[in-house]
Amino acid sequence: MKKLLYFLSIFFLLNTIHSQGVKTFFKSPEGKFFVSADLHIHTVFSDGSVWPTIRVEEALRDSIDLISLTEHLEYQPWRADIPNPDRNRSFQIAAGYVKKQPLAVVHGTEITKGMPPGHFNAIFINDANKFFDNDKKPLDFEKAIKEANNQGAFVFWNHPHWESQRRDGIARLDPIHDKIISKKYLHGIEVVNMSTFSEEAMQIALDNNLTIMGTSDVHVLIDWDFNNERESFHRPLTFIISENRTIKSTRDALFNQKTFVWFHDLIIGKEENLKMVVNENFSIKSHGYDFDRYNSKQILKLELINHSVAPLKIKYVGEYNFHTEFNFFEIKPKSKIEVYLKTLKVLDTVELPFEILNYVIAPKTNLSILKNISVK
Ligand SMILES: [Zn+2]
Ligand SMILES: [Zn+2]
Repeated sequence: MKKLLYFLSIFFLLNTIHSQGVKTFFKSPEGKFFVSADLHIHTVFSDGSVWPTIRVEEALRDSIDLISLTEHLEYQPWRADIPNPDRNRSFQIAAGYVKKQPLAVVHGTEITKGMPPGHFNAIFINDANKFFDNDKKPLDFEKAIKEANNQGAFVFWNHPHWESQRRDGIARLDPIHDKIISKKYLHGIEVVNMSTFSEEAMQIALDNNLTIMGTSDVHVLIDWDFNNERESFHRPLTFIISENRTIKSTRDALFNQKTFVWFHDLIIGKEENLKMVVNENFSIKSHGYDFDRYNSKQILKLELINHSVAPLKIKYVGEYNFHTEFNFFEIKPKSKIEVYLKTLKVLDTVELPFEILNYVIAPKTNLSILKNISVK
C-alpha cells in the first residue's frame, strides 16, 4: 500500500501511457506490450538547446511512448539566463504539456560526476531537488545514488564508454561500480548512447544482470542528430517488454531486464528477449511444392516475411541449398521475399535454422533460431 501511494504521488494523472495512435515498431506476442522509450534527453534546463515542450513534440512525431528529461544536476551552463532553482521544472513543464497525448513523461535526472564513477540517470524519481544538500551543493556520488534508490528510481550508467571519460572507448568497471552493483543501487547500463555502441558495456550488462539500455542523449534538435535523409537513421530507442501499458508494469519490466535496443539496423538485447522479438517479427509461409514458377513438384516455395520496422539480415545455416539464392537474405522493413528450397524429398515439415545477423545477444554474437515450417 505504501508503495502504491508512492507511485500515485510520483505520477499523479500519468499512470497509464495512452494507447490511441500507438505505432507498432515491432509486433509483440499476445499479452505483452513493447513500450518504446527514450530515457536520456536534455533541455535548456541543463545543457540542451530546446524547451521541454519541444522534446514532447519531437517524441510525438517519432511515435514514442515514454520519455524522461534527464537534466544534469551538476551542470547548468545556461543558469545565468534560466536561473530557476527548482530542479523539477523541466519535468513539470513537459508532464503538464502531455496530458491526453499518447505519450508519458517520467521524472528523471542525470547524476553527473567525473570518471570514476561517471554519469548516471535516475528515472522514476519524485523530487530532483533532494539531490542537493542544505547549502544547495549537489550530493556526492554515493549519497546521490542512495537518494535515487530511496526515491524508488531505476538507475542506469550512462555512456560508460564515452571517449571523453574513457580515452580508449572501452567500458570497464572501477571498484566504485562493483560497489554500487553489489549494493543493488545500479540497475541498468547504456550499451548504446547517441551514435555509439559498446560491446564491452554489453558484456558488463550480461555479467552483472543489468538492464540493457539505448538512448539518444539528445541536446540539440532530434532531427539534426538523427532523422536525416536516410530513412533508417532514427534515434536509438529502448523497447520495454511490459505486461500492460501502465507505468508500474513498465517500471517493473525495466527492473527485470526486459528490454531490447533498436540502434541503426541493429537489435541488441538478451537472448530470451530477442527470441521473443524475432518469433513475432520473422515469419515463414509455405506455398508447398505445387506452384507455377518451376516445373518441379520437388522444390519448396517459401515466403520470408519481416513484420518489423527494422530490416532482417538473415543467414540460412541448414543442410539444403536454394534454387535462386545463396544463403544470405536481407528482408526490408515490413516486407517479404520469395525463396525456393531444394529439399531433395517432398517433406511434410521442414526445420530451418537461421542466424539473425543484425540481432546482437552478446559481444561478437548474433542470435540463432530454428523455424519449424509445416509444408501444407
Ligand atoms: Zn552524460
Ligand atoms: Zn546526458
